[in-house]
Amino acid sequence: MEFLDRLLTCADCGGEFIFTAGEQLFFFDKQFKNDPKRCKPCKSKRSGTGLKAGTGPAAAGLSRTETRTECSACGIETTVPFKPTQGRPVLCRQCFQSKRAPTTGALVTGATTAEMVAGAGGERTAVGAELLVAAQAPQA
Ligand SMILES: [Zn+2]
Ligand SMILES: [Zn+2]
Repeated sequence: MEFLDRLLTCADCGGEFIFTAGEQLFFFDKQFKNDPKRCKPCKSKRSGTGLKAGTGPAAAGLSRTETRTECSACGIETTVPFKPTQGRPVLCRQCFQSKRAPTTGALVTGATTAEMVAGAGGERTAVGAELLVAAQAPQA
C-alpha cells in the first residue's frame, strides 16, 4: 500500500495543510473513512490535546517501545524504552542510577542533563543521551 502526501484545506482557518503519507497510513490502519478536516494547530486547539503531546515526564513514562536486553554491567535481563545501539553499553535502571549519580544526585543529574541537551556525543553520556531521545520521542 502506497500513500502520497496530499494538500487539504482546513475547515476552520481555511489554510492549506499536508495530509502526509504517514498520516494516511495511520488513517487507513484505523479504518477512518474521512480525511482530516482541520490542520494540526486548529485540531489541537479544539481538542485541547496540543499541550499534552510529547511534553514532560508523563510521555516518557508511557513508553510503548520497550526492548528486551541484557544489562552490560550486571548482566540481568532488563527492558529499555529505546532500541539499543550496537556496541553501546545498556544498563539496567539500578546500574544506570549508580553510574549516573554516585554522590549527590541533584548536582550530577543536572550536569548530565546539561550535557545531553547540548548534544554532547561523548561516550560517557551516550546511554543518557539515548534515554533522553527516547523520552522525547516515545512514538519512534
Ligand atoms: Zn486550521
Ligand atoms: Zn545492571
